[in-house]
Amino acid sequence: MLFDCPHCKAKCQFTNLGDQHKCKVNASCQQAWRCSNCDGIIVSRFVPSIQTINDAQIFPLIKINPQIAIGKLPEEIKSNYLESLDDYSNGCYVSSVIMCRRVIQKSCIDEGAKKKVLFDQIEELNIDKNLKKLAHKLRFWGNKGAHPDILLDEKITEADAKIAIDFTEKFLQYLYIIPKEIEEIEGKAQKETDKK
Ligand SMILES: [Zn+2]
Repeated sequence: MLFDCPHCKAKCQFTNLGDQHKCKVNASCQQAWRCSNCDGIIVSRFVPSIQTINDAQIFPLIKINPQIAIGKLPEEIKSNYLESLDDYSNGCYVSSVIMCRRVIQKSCIDEGAKKKVLFDQIEELNIDKNLKKLAHKLRFWGNKGAHPDILLDEKITEADAKIAIDFTEKFLQYLYIIPKEIEEIEGKAQKETDKK
């Protein structure tokens, strides 16, 4: 059976360590497995009435760290972004996507967007057209224009939350981090010129 291994951080083949057990508290099926790559042990858990083993939640949960230079972000945006990562790491995927939306929306307003709906706000910004194209493809940014902020009627999986985080990171990278880095390089270049 293939799972994402929380220990060696790769998609690995797992060998089961015994039978599947049905939990009497929440009717979920639980099973222990060993990773063929790192020998780490995991437990899979899924509720058969709504899921299959392929959608099983894996414990320990995969923890994620920031992939961007958070020191270059405005304070409030940084704390909301870090909260979306914490939500993800704790297995709260809906909350994670909602926090990502909040980060994007705050950034748009910060950059002068005036429209009401998040998708229109992204459109309004003078940003990379590929980034906008990507936003069009991601349903949780509300490209229908009538998307509720709390994602009612949406089934959000772990993979969705990861996509939301990846997009949010690209967005922040483009909007805040790269411009700051260019400024820093320009500053350094200026100092070099002044020395001469
Ligand atoms: Zn492993």
